[in-house]
Amino acid sequence: MSVTVHFAAGPAAWREYHDHLPRALADAGVRAEILLTAPDPAAVDYIVFAPGGKIQDFSPYVNCKAVLNLWAGVERIVGNTTLTQPLARMVDPAMTESMVEWVVGHTLRHHLGMDLHILSQDGIWRNEITPPIARERPVAVLGLGALGRAAGEALAALNFPVMGWSRTPKDIPGIDCHSGDAGLAAVLSRAEIVILLVPLTSGTENLMNAERLARLPKGAVILNPGRGPLIDDAALLAALDRGDLGHATLDVFRNEPLPEGHPFWTHPRVTVTPHIAASTRPLTASAVVAENIRRGEAGEPLLYLVDRARGY
Ligand code: NAP
Repeated sequence: MSVTVHFAAGPAAWREYHDHLPRALADAGVRAEILLTAPDPAAVDYIVFAPGGKIQDFSPYVNCKAVLNLWAGVERIVGNTTLTQPLARMVDPAMTESMVEWVVGHTLRHHLGMDLHILSQDGIWRNEITPPIARERPVAVLGLGALGRAAGEALAALNFPVMGWSRTPKDIPGIDCHSGDAGLAAVLSRAEIVILLVPLTSGTENLMNAERLARLPKGAVILNPGRGPLIDDAALLAALDRGDLGHATLDVFRNEPLPEGHPFWTHPRVTVTPHIAASTRPLTASAVVAENIRRGEAGEPLLYLVDRARGY
């Protein structure tokens, strides 16, 4: 028996996946027909989806066993009321590696004060500033899921004192874990570098509002590879302008691409990266999709199912 997979993530994505997905399905022992259009939605067994993909109404896909999202974040699909099928999100090992590297790289930039030497080759021998070592620089990772935990563990391996915060309590070796409002307040009051890796949900929108930004030590740095609306932009700019915050390195924004003329582009204390912290990698992501289809066909539980009520 062959399964019918509707690749609904769009033609640009298909150009990246057409070499990898058929091979991954074959490697998983799944016989599949992959359709780019589905004239008969009732014949579709699985939908491979990405935000911006063409399906808005999932109700005609009456026999679809699961929608497999190619992105880790699901905020653009989770509230779709026509989607009654199980929804799985992407946890891709190469994406996780990429996020760890982005977080470690930008943390070390700020920790070591690299800009001073990289941007100021002016003949002045500035050896009076000795950067602290990692063990003297408390950092916090908000969100301890697939990405936040890996980033926190990598920072802990470099000797940063790592605090973590999540919705439910956790016990992770090397990370001082907290949860709840009081836990967040405690974490923020000590964190010199804060990394945002919670999903965007109704519970996390504007997580970093004026009040929480004000809890951070003076000169603290924010790294946001999570989602733009996790931060109140106006409050962030005000805190940067006052010098209360030292810098914000932002990978994600309320509107993407970040519009020309947005104050983030030119603010001296803001670095913009264009949502490149951790792209899904078609080679490894295809294996994840194929494994989930194999599981679906074998009657095994799917990996990385989204809890609709929770929003992630
Ligand atoms: P995940 O595995 O679902 O982990 C989410 C974490 O956030 C969990 O630890 C969860 O707590 C915590 N959390 C959720 N809601 C919370 C709340 N209200 N209060 C406190 N903690 C909360 O997600 P992930 O795979 O690590 O990805 C995280 C996010 O990264 C994605 O949602 C996406 O927005 C972003 N992302 C960005 C890029 C990029 O290129 N910039 C790439 C991939 C992903 P529990 O553990 O208690 O459930």
